Amino acid sequence: MNPLDGLIEALKRLPGVGQKSAQRMAYHLLQHDRDGARSLAAALQAAAEQVGHCQRCHTFSESALCDICADTSRDASLLCVVESPADQAALERSNSYKGYYFVLLGRVSPLDGVGVHQIGAAELLARAAEAGVAEVILATSFTAEGEATAHVLGEALRSRGIRATRLARGVPVGSELEYVDLGTIAHALVDRR
Ligand SMILES: [Zn+2]
Repeated sequence: MNPLDGLIEALKRLPGVGQKSAQRMAYHLLQHDRDGARSLAAALQAAAEQVGHCQRCHTFSESALCDICADTSRDASLLCVVESPADQAALERSNSYKGYYFVLLGRVSPLDGVGVHQIGAAELLARAAEAGVAEVILATSFTAEGEATAHVLGEALRSRGIRATRLARGVPVGSELEYVDLGTIAHALVDRR
């Protein structure tokens, strides 16, 4: 494969990028922005090699513990479960939550063969069973898959005697948390049950 086709194929790995968009991006970079292409390549390389996962909450982190997990001033009685680092960032921006997080590796999706074991449920249950955790807030999306994920995890947590709550319904049905406005997220956190 020649380098141009290789670039187009590589760009097609990005979510939502098909053949046409990949071609457009590749041509743009090569025609108008060689410097941008070089810095994009360098940034990708650096991120792919240096960014790992926090060993405690699984979010992206360059060190063994992410900044949030390393912050001892937060409320250790609360553990909030989200589907992705992007959702975690949205909750952080809402400035209404001071507990810790557990970041799942996606959500349950039976059609795609993704069950609770693939998204880190065992690690979550172990983390939630640690001393000091009084409540696990299930902040997965209000999509069918997010609801299913919250349901399965909630059952597993409650069967182990751990209190599990769900974000209140201020969040619109079918919405990805990442795209919900901050006020709504703050409200949903306060009204959880
Ligand atoms: Zn962490």
